[in-house]
Amino acid sequence: MSENPTAATMRNKDDLIVVTGAGGFIGGALVRYFHDQGFTNLRAIDKKPLPKWYQRTPGVESLCLDLSYRENCVRAVEGAVEVYNLAADMGGMGFIENFRVECLRSVLINTHLIEAAYRAGVDRYFFSSSACAYNTDLQKDPHVRALKESDAYPAMAERGYGWEKLLSEMFCQEYAAERNMKTAIARFHNVYGPNGTWDGGREKAPAALSRKVIEAKESGNHEIVIWGDGEQTRSFMYIDDCVKGIDMITHCDDLIATPINLGSSELFSINALVSEIEKVGGITLERRYDPDAPRGVAGRNSDNTFIQQVLGWEPNTPLKEGIAKTYAWIETQYADRKAGKPTPAGESVDHG
Ligand code: NAD
Repeated sequence: MSENPTAATMRNKDDLIVVTGAGGFIGGALVRYFHDQGFTNLRAIDKKPLPKWYQRTPGVESLCLDLSYRENCVRAVEGAVEVYNLAADMGGMGFIENFRVECLRSVLINTHLIEAAYRAGVDRYFFSSSACAYNTDLQKDPHVRALKESDAYPAMAERGYGWEKLLSEMFCQEYAAERNMKTAIARFHNVYGPNGTWDGGREKAPAALSRKVIEAKESGNHEIVIWGDGEQTRSFMYIDDCVKGIDMITHCDDLIATPINLGSSELFSINALVSEIEKVGGITLERRYDPDAPRGVAGRNSDNTFIQQVLGWEPNTPLKEGIAKTYAWIETQYADRKAGKPTPAGESVDHG
């Protein structure tokens, strides 16, 4: 690990750290990470009822609040020294292509929360942006050149979800420029790992394909449906790298209000990802392609020149290793659900 400043080197262990979206995948992992570093004053927030959270870390103040309301944001950040905003109405391609209004409405979370954090005198504020903020015209070929931070402008982001991220990034930049707030912005590229959405319509490719392989093994129907032609390419970042990166980015003064890629630079086609998962599952399935399913941009990779330059580090967990852990976790969830035990699968998609 590098010697970059982190929460552990900059903060007192009883400083209040607030994580929103903590009932979800990355927020839940971030709370666990700070807890494991010895922080004793953590507040975790999500709009999902507590029993539906993927993980709840013992000893952490866990609140069910809808942060699209201003007063809930004010309550959420009371007394906080740092705020990490991981709350968003989001999902994999199937969700973000079909529920653009829901995605856009996350702007309410980000606008109310950053203002509340500013008024509460929060010292550092982290925002989880996405590679979907990049210009889609640059992502029409599976053999893409990796996206560097300047590729977001001129802007032609993913409709709905990507534009919301771009606008919320700008809030972070202007709160820094006009109000001197220390904001940090990471553009995540496909994060995967245990304790995330694996079913229900919001799951992303690594979890969805792991579940499909498990289902095929269970049912004896040795076929797998792949969205598109499977030649679309992506990079995949393991969750442990993601939380480490969030910590380093938030505490780096050279990165205040400066969007930075947080993703793996190892590129895989969806077909290659399926092969990796099949290896873990010990099975080879017949592939059926669905050309009408949502497939997203043709290709996307993270250019890690900037993060290497500023932090001397980049996400580096090999896919093979991360997928094995993810698959094992989903297999357990699948078995638990079959046995009638409650499992925190994805929130169903509704237009409430
Ligand atoms: P997730 O869906 O597992 O978690 C997000 C959480 O936010 C959910 O638990 C949801 O209930 C909560 N939430 C939604 N609306 C809320 C509201 N109004 N008030 C309070 N909580 C609310 O998603 P994730 O994968 O953990 O993503 C976390 C962040 O990272 C999001 O901002 C997402 O856009 C971003 N991101 C994730 C990925 C990825 O690959 N997972 C990629 C790029 C960006």
